[in-house]
Amino acid sequence: MSMANISPVKLSLDSKFSFDCRKDLECFTKCCRDINIILTPYDIIRMKNRLELSSDEFLAIYTTPQLLDKTDLPVITLKMLDDEEKSCPFVREDGCLIYTDRPITCRYYPLGSGTLAHKEDTDDQQGFFFFINEPHCKGFDKGYDWTVREWRKDQNASAYDEINAGWYDLMVMKRSFPPTMHLTEKAKKLFFIASYNIDAFHRFVFESDFIQLYTVDENKAQEMRDDEIKLFTFGQEWLKWVLYKKGEFSLNTSLAEKRSK
Ligand code: SF4
Ligand code: SF4
Repeated sequence: MSMANISPVKLSLDSKFSFDCRKDLECFTKCCRDINIILTPYDIIRMKNRLELSSDEFLAIYTTPQLLDKTDLPVITLKMLDDEEKSCPFVREDGCLIYTDRPITCRYYPLGSGTLAHKEDTDDQQGFFFFINEPHCKGFDKGYDWTVREWRKDQNASAYDEINAGWYDLMVMKRSFPPTMHLTEKAKKLFFIASYNIDAFHRFVFESDFIQLYTVDENKAQEMRDDEIKLFTFGQEWLKWVLYKKGEFSLNTSLAEKRSK
């Protein structure tokens, strides 16, 4: 996707467009090549589970880590194949091999999404949307009328956004800080693990005295032990507290003191 193809028109949830993506279109799967897909934490959880891989294996085989200039935070992109067309590793002649677990960028397409929530002079907390008008995409004006809201729901993108909400908050918060404020390497590593490597975060929480240190309720700890989404959501709240001192965590002070000695 090239920036030149991004339409400057800002769309809202009620904006309308006409679109249909079908196998009989000449462009079928052309949008699955040479594309920059930033994976969200929930994308990674869904994809690694679909492929029956550990987080470590999935990250090593299918992704490339990058530092986002605007936030100085690590992001993960899907690694395209080294073929002539730089194809997505999951594209096949008859479509996406992991369709029901495809990443949110693919769900939104031909829309992109952004957020203005980091700007102090706006109360737009719902984000905004825009068209990615790539010349190869022949799906526009093909008969089905959608609002952005309907499209998100149809593609299950709204459910992904809800689960990723804490992660979006962290990115936006960091972007609102002065560019001169840098996170330490250790903070970036914690952000990486709690956001993208849920297996490593599970070990970090349950194979240490973390639960005692943060006085996590026993029932909650058990839920997080068994449920990756609950663990991920907790991790994002914890990061907000560790990185930005937002939210509430009660520390076991005597354990914390012992640890610092
Ligand atoms: S994950 Fe699926 S839908 Fe997304 S680019 Fe790859 S093949 Fe296409
Ligand atoms: S290029 Fe557009 S219409 Fe064609 S397959 Fe991709 S999303 Fe569908």
